[in-house]
Amino acid sequence: MRTLVRYGYVPFMLLAVNGAGIAVAASGSSKLWLLGLLSLAIAASFVAERVLPYRADWNIPHDDDRRDAVHAVVNETLTLGSVAALPVLTAVASIDGVWPHDWPFVLQVLAAVLVADLGITLVHLASHRIPALWRLHAVHHSVKRAYGFNGLMKHPLHQTLETAAGVAPLVLLGLPTSVAYALALCVAVQLLLQHSNADYRVGPLRSVLALNQAHRFHHLKWSGVGDVNFGLFTLVWDHLLGTYSYDPERRFTSDDLGMAAKPHYPGGYLAQLAEPFRRRGACTADEPRPEVAAKRMPDPASR
Ligand SMILES: [Zn+2]
Repeated sequence: MRTLVRYGYVPFMLLAVNGAGIAVAASGSSKLWLLGLLSLAIAASFVAERVLPYRADWNIPHDDDRRDAVHAVVNETLTLGSVAALPVLTAVASIDGVWPHDWPFVLQVLAAVLVADLGITLVHLASHRIPALWRLHAVHHSVKRAYGFNGLMKHPLHQTLETAAGVAPLVLLGLPTSVAYALALCVAVQLLLQHSNADYRVGPLRSVLALNQAHRFHHLKWSGVGDVNFGLFTLVWDHLLGTYSYDPERRFTSDDLGMAAKPHYPGGYLAQLAEPFRRRGACTADEPRPEVAAKRMPDPASR
């Protein structure tokens, strides 16, 4: 069973769950099937983490489980609402005749994933560089353990900005609503994989796909050190931007995660919604840095 999870969990999520979502979206079936697939993906995420945990203590709630459930429900509802509103946007803002409607549906989804990956990755990078955006993104970086379900945990306003940047070019290109529904499921599945506490393996693909082995480096708490591996679906943009970082020997504990400059970030849902708008939600100068730097350490950004 552990071997099955180690090598089969990622293919199950990327090929079986996403594949089923693509089939549902292509067929025009009820969108409730997509909610069912999202629920299946979340359940699979928890099962994989219990069968093959990277850290056993990261499977134990850190007073964060109910809060993360609220984040997930709010954020996924927002996502579905945005997709439902897409026809209005494409009706007024798309360039006719650009979207490749004649491509096989699965390739249309793949193209949408790659375009969205660029936009979302760039907003993510900007969120570590621009203080006003960091205030919002800090909510997501307050986590003290990595487990699949808290991939969906972020400030709804920040998610909206990321989604807008990822989807805006697609809207211009005339993204069909059916493709957008499939894309929305792919994003949620990717976030579950990226933050997963399952100790799965993908071989050399770990330096191409933005999965948990690389993403843990992104959650290192130190200013500068954690400003790496921004990609959502792929690490291609990180390789090109020089923000890729990986060390196969590195192991992580809760002490490594979070924000060194904000060790007492509020944990409640409503408090997290409000924190970016409080005075203390800002970045501070002179932020703590580690004694020994990671392999590469870009200039400190906005932490
Ligand atoms: Zn980040």
